[in-house]
Amino acid sequence: MDHEVFLGLGSNLDTPERQLCQAVTHIAHLCGVRLHGVSSVYRSAPLGYADQPAFFNAVLRLSTTLPPSALLDALHGIEHEHGRTREFRNAPRTLDLDILLYDQLRQEDAVLTLPHPRCHERAFVLLPLLELAPDCVIPGRGPARDWLPGCSNQAIEKLGALEIGETHSNH
Ligand code: AMP
Repeated sequence: MDHEVFLGLGSNLDTPERQLCQAVTHIAHLCGVRLHGVSSVYRSAPLGYADQPAFFNAVLRLSTTLPPSALLDALHGIEHEHGRTREFRNAPRTLDLDILLYDQLRQEDAVLTLPHPRCHERAFVLLPLLELAPDCVIPGRGPARDWLPGCSNQAIEKLGALEIGETHSNH
């Protein structure tokens, strides 16, 4: 059975837009994944640790036959290929991939929290998510659009479409 998933992508190191484009291609080629939508790219000021470059963010809409834990493992593999290291919380990163929503699933365990615990309080998630799914509901939080006013103090700029390569796969 196919599950509807929204992923959040972020990068602020090593030509971030290239990182995002390559990540979209890698994700689209994962076994058991189909890519249905790519948001615009947004540039946002770093949250938490401010002394670092601006972030580039986007959201993808997928369908997948993978269960959440297998999808997360596959995404960690892609982060690793992009040279991702984890030095400290909110540190600069070549690529960050988050599962924002997996159907209307709510779960919390040692490795995965769904929906993503902070997705409703980040403009760089909500704006691209609402582009792809204007009526999106965040389980336990309600309509995503209702959370936007609370993010109005976050500096963010819409840049435009990602220039991605071949995203069709045979899976
Ligand atoms: P980060 O450093 O932001 O990439 O977060 C790292 C850890 O967050 C990962 O090792 C995951 O196990 C955990 N995590 C919990 N919930 C999620 C989620 N919804 N999407 C991605 N990672 C998650």
